Amino acid sequence: MSANHAIVIIGGGPVGATLALSLLSRGIACTLLEARARGASHHDQRALALSYGTRLILQRLGVWEPLAAHATAINTIHISQRGSIGRTLLQAEDQGQEALGYVVSYGALTSVLDQALANHDGAQILHEAEVSEVLPGSAGTRVIFSQRGRSIVLDAQLAVLADGGRSLGSIPGLERETREYGHDALVSKVSAELPHNNIAYERFTPAGPMALLPNGERDFSLVWTGEQQAIQQVLALDDEVFLTELHRHFGDRVGRFLSVGKRMSFPLRLSRLNPVVLPHFAVIGNAAQTMHPVAGQGFNVGLRDAWELSLQLAEAAPATWGETSMLHAYAKTRQRDTRNGLLFTDFLVNIFSNEILGVSGLRGAGLGLLDIASPAKRFLINKMSFGARG
Ligand SMILES: Cc1cc2nc3c(=O)[nH]c(=O)nc-3n(C[C@H](O)[C@H](O)[C@H](O)COP(=O)(O)OP(=O)(O)OC[C@H]3O[C@@H](n4cnc5c(N)ncnc54)[C@H](O)[C@@H]3O)c2cc1C
Repeated sequence: MSANHAIVIIGGGPVGATLALSLLSRGIACTLLEARARGASHHDQRALALSYGTRLILQRLGVWEPLAAHATAINTIHISQRGSIGRTLLQAEDQGQEALGYVVSYGALTSVLDQALANHDGAQILHEAEVSEVLPGSAGTRVIFSQRGRSIVLDAQLAVLADGGRSLGSIPGLERETREYGHDALVSKVSAELPHNNIAYERFTPAGPMALLPNGERDFSLVWTGEQQAIQQVLALDDEVFLTELHRHFGDRVGRFLSVGKRMSFPLRLSRLNPVVLPHFAVIGNAAQTMHPVAGQGFNVGLRDAWELSLQLAEAAPATWGETSMLHAYAKTRQRDTRNGLLFTDFLVNIFSNEILGVSGLRGAGLGLLDIASPAKRFLINKMSFGARG
């Protein structure tokens, strides 16, 4: 079977679903193909750090209100460095912002997005629809997927890949630059003796950065990064030893750690697709760029891809959707934000964590200086809150 569709989105994760919702809210019909069964992602406890700018986008799409009950505000970011007394505090009230950002679970976010999509007439959302091939061409992009044992072919005027970057192999014409950090991130939920008071802790250690994000009334989401072998060893510890080790590594800011949930790890890499568009084809979200999670930039940059693409499509005449000039205009608007996100993240990883520099005293002083240098602080807050537009 083959059918013609104007816009086909591949992947209904938070980025693909946001694109679909944003298009539908502008009266633009689209077809979304998602490999997982309906609702399969709604229990995913992975914690996502949403910037304040992301909240504003979700608010405009009408999904912030149902999500707010599941979001924990970050009012202060406490940045410190192991072995140094330097530290800096970024505070929402200094900026006149309600919050610097929010922590939500992946499941809560996809659940409100899916619900909002279901409320739209004209949304064609196909679950258990796994795409095996995309074939961009000069007249359109052919998308081949299977659903419940049936093989289906769609011809799209514009196909948008938002699959998180893990499913489809290389696509001719698109190059992926990848830098492996050789580090893993361990993520889990932990509870501690002291309440979080809506403070997110970023701690830089010679082994790699770690973060404790407030999540729920008392819990924290932990991101602990380090060399692959070291993180795999920590992953295998029994709970009690793990909690003691975490306390030793993180220090005493929130007292002792009391419990830890399921632990999982994933490899850290910086990767970027270049270009991100071909005629009748665009790649957005994690599929287009992957960043180290240190500054919570990656997901937010991906969401801005979806938002910006929907704006460009809404402004263009439908007959031009997918044309080279239209997609190049989109790619141009995203270039600076993506590059800055990648550079900023890489800068943080290197300046604070890399022992090659051998100047930890200077870096400690750097944090202290940052605390009194308000333009630098404002830059950091804007970057974390809004990305390139901050
Ligand atoms: C294991 C892991 C843990 C992470 N932990 C954190 C964390 O703790 N904090 C944080 O901020 N970020 C974390 N991230 C990053 C974060 O998950 C991403 O930034 C975010 O999910 C990107 O959203 P996305 O919609 O681009 O991609 P995804 O969330 O990956 O969504 C892609 C969607 O496409 C679907 N799909 C894939 N292939 C196909 C196909 N062939 N056909 C149809 N559908 C397809 C998938 O089922 C999925 O629903 C983690 C990433 C991974 C891989």
